[in-house]
Amino acid sequence: MTNPAENTADQALRERLACLRIVLVETSHPGNIGAAARAMKTMGLKHLALVNPRDFPSAAATANASGADDILHVASRHTNLADAVADCGMVVGTTARPRYLEWPVESPRAMAQAVMALPANTQCALVFGREQSGLSNEELALCQRVIRIPTDEAFSSLNLAQAVQICAYELRLAALSDAPLKLSEDNEPLANARETADAIEHLLRVMERVEFYNPERPKRLPGRLHRLINRSDLKRSEVQILRGFLTAIEEMGQSPG
Ligand code: SAH
Repeated sequence: MTNPAENTADQALRERLACLRIVLVETSHPGNIGAAARAMKTMGLKHLALVNPRDFPSAAATANASGADDILHVASRHTNLADAVADCGMVVGTTARPRYLEWPVESPRAMAQAVMALPANTQCALVFGREQSGLSNEELALCQRVIRIPTDEAFSSLNLAQAVQICAYELRLAALSDAPLKLSEDNEPLANARETADAIEHLLRVMERVEFYNPERPKRLPGRLHRLINRSDLKRSEVQILRGFLTAIEEMGQSPG
């Protein structure tokens, strides 16, 4: 006989995992895509998004998926990262490099706990970079958090699918945690990646208009602004306030006299 409590727990686990998406950016080797799908399926993750894969679909991907080809069949395809994460309230980048610019870098464990504390149904993407060169700065600028699997600093780069496996495991572990999850009491949705990017663009436009910012000599302002906004886990309503304020400034500049 099945235990109803177990069923409820299973369902809660499935719901938590259903909001998670693994995004692979410009993967060169189709075998890595298949192996990533396998890594995902073992941990109960289903949503794979591919940004400009070099060779996909491919027999090598299917072979390496070892039975997780259902994930490959329904994987979404995108021409850029912004499109792949547009609806996500939380976007997490991954890096093999011990220090990545000035981004505060966390562990997968800390990230997984933070993800499980997000308002219910927040879509969350974990983004993995190219085998040769990882993620670009523009791609990292779309991420609210950046994580690094704490490897030996002298040899820090894992195989792509192995990195997916470790992160997916941490997410499952956090989702399974016996301790009642500190699910946010405030279920107001976070702004998604598209809304956040639009707000940053708006901010820069107004800063340029009031001659605080000169795009010809950007110094490090755009990058710092991305970092500030991304760190803030802005709610949708907060982005609306910010946009409304910026629009008011723009309109003021237009009024005669
Ligand atoms: N030479 C590249 C390495 C890319 S490895 C670089 O310097 O960035 C391919 C991808 O695997 C990375 O973009 C990242 O998504 C993932 N990865 C590899 N090692 C990792 C680690 N230690 N922590 C987190 N992600 C890692």
